[in-house]
Amino acid sequence: MMNVVQDGLGWIEVICGSMFSGKTEELIRRLRRAQIAKQKVAIFKPAIDNRYSEDHIVSHNEQRIPSISVENAWQILEKSGDAQVVGIDEGQFFGMELLDVCNRLADDGKRVIVAGLDQDYRGKPFEPIPQLLAVAESITKTLAICVKCGSPANRTQRITHDRSRVVVGAADVYEARCRKCHEPPEDE
Ligand code: ZN
Repeated sequence: MMNVVQDGLGWIEVICGSMFSGKTEELIRRLRRAQIAKQKVAIFKPAIDNRYSEDHIVSHNEQRIPSISVENAWQILEKSGDAQVVGIDEGQFFGMELLDVCNRLADDGKRVIVAGLDQDYRGKPFEPIPQLLAVAESITKTLAICVKCGSPANRTQRITHDRSRVVVGAADVYEARCRKCHEPPEDE
């Protein structure tokens, strides 16, 4: 694992997994360490996700770190300035543009750390995270615990009947399930 930003060496780290797997917690941990090392850090999240806070990234275990809400991936590029480390939460909400943006930031010598869902609620790969995994220098898959059987879980079960791909919510809408216990909706 690379922990030190060398001058001019950029790269991409992806932290992905189901909901309740500790992705945001891990993102915050890495960003805090960079801040402690007095590196310039810029932290972004999509404006769509204001579940807990408008101006902080907040994990399910109540860790928080100040962040900038942006409407789209290009604003991350515009607002990163001279940051050495760029943190991005909920990467799946930014769409495929995030791939280009992360590559450009890393090419520019920045350490880019993206957290996001790798699968949607049906268990299908959730772009742009699969594409980011392909170009990333470092990948961390986080696992939750299945609420049904207690096994390691990497799927997100939607417990409401909404069929749109993006429904922002927490324990009121989703729970972590393992492969065996995950029940995808029947295809229409
Ligand atoms: Zn299970």
